[in-house]
Formats: sequence, C-alpha cells, structure tokens
Amino acid sequence: MVNAIIFGAPGSGKGTYASRLQSKLGVDVIATGDVFREIIKENTPLGRKVKGYVEKGLLVPDDIVVEVLKKRLAKTTSGKGFILDGYPRTVEQAKALEKIAKIDVIIKLTVPEWIIIERLSTRRICKNCGEVYNIRYLKPKVDMICDKCGGPLYQRPDDTPEVIKERIQVYERQTQPILQYYKEKSVPFIEFKCEEVDIPPEVVVEKLLKGLKRLKLV
Ligand code: ADP
Repeated sequence: MVNAIIFGAPGSGKGTYASRLQSKLGVDVIATGDVFREIIKENTPLGRKVKGYVEKGLLVPDDIVVEVLKKRLAKTTSGKGFILDGYPRTVEQAKALEKIAKIDVIIKLTVPEWIIIERLSTRRICKNCGEVYNIRYLKPKVDMICDKCGGPLYQRPDDTPEVIKERIQVYERQTQPILQYYKEKSVPFIEFKCEEVDIPPEVVVEKLLKGLKRLKLV
C-alpha cells in the first residue's frame, strides 16, 4: 500500500503517469480537478458553487475542497493506497490532509517550460473518460478517437502558449510552499527531471516505480 502525492506543472505528464501507475499498482488516482468537473455536471447547489470558482480559474475554497476530498478518499476501494493529483494546492490543504491520511511519498516532476508548451499545445483529451493523448507524441490508434472507450477527443481551451506560460507561473508560486512543507516534515521525495519532449511514458513510469521500490513502498 502506498499513499502518494504527485506534483508537476500543467503538461508535466502528471495525469499520464498517474494513470499508468494506477494500472501497474492498483492504487486509486484522485484528481481533484476531475472530481470537481464531475460535481459541476451534477448541477447540485454544491456543483453550482464550485462552478463559479473553476470557470474563473480560481482555487475552490479550502473548506469545500477538504470536504470533497474526505468523501472521495472514504470511497477508495482498492486497499492499495492512492495517488493524489491536484491536491494539496495550499499549505492549509496539506495540513488538513495530514489528519485524514498518512502520506508516504511525494512524486515531483520537473519539466522545462519549452517542453510543456510543445506538449500542451498538441494535447488532446477524451471527452468521455479523460484519457490523455498527444497528436504528435502519443497518438490514438484512430484519429481523434479514444483507444480506451471510443469517445471523441478534444483540446482544452486553456492549452494555448500564452495561457500555458501563465499557468506554469501560478503553479510554481502555489507549489513551492507546499513542497517546502513536506520537506520539513521529512516525507521522502521521488524526483524526475525531464529533458526530452518525447520521452516515452513507460520510461518515466519505470523510473518512478524504481524509486518507490527503493523506498520499499511497493
Ligand atoms: P489545472 O491543472 O488546469 O489547474 P485541474 O484539473 O487540476 O486543472 O483543476 C481544475 C480546477 O479545479 C482548478 O482550476 C481549480 O479551480 C479547481 N481545483 C482543483 N483542485 C483544487 C484544489 N486542491 N484546491 C482548490 N481548487 C482546486
């Protein structure tokens, strides 16, 4: 069993690697962005409240995020642990998490800006199941169709170079204090520094798995 948090700028490959680690290790992957998008679809009072923040690109307030995460974690059924993606985004959220679950490891991905821009402007996502593709580096078998579920692929409206640069800066500003927090708590880190735009996901995942094995977490 392993409870991990994965950190990486938008376009660092976080979602892709988390999804592959999920298949390999049987862990649950909880991406708060996806959880919020599901809640918004439900169109409940909570969903309408959350929508206001997400659509403006603002962080959802900590009290709501923590409640939502608690409920989602209570539903994890694998018994193999979890990987959090998109949580915590504030030190307050990290502190709240400490009361809910023990974190064994931080997975940190470092990717240069030019690679992120190159990758995100060519990224496509399945509308149906959220699987991530790339029209240059990670093509689906059939053009614009998801290999996994046959759903249609689309491009996120914020996957443009100007918006991407801004999102990277926001990410750095938000994440530094949280990484610092976990360093002070002596939570072990597995760091992967990307240097090639087209590094195959399996190579990265193997390295991450090696890191987990070295820490005797899998
Ligand atoms: P992005 O990488 O573009 O930020 P995500 O899918 O991770 O996309 O998140 C989408 C939106 O959901 C965020 O812009 C934010 O409004 C909300 N969100 C996700 N996770 C959190 C969190 N931990 N705290 C606050 N808001 C969050």
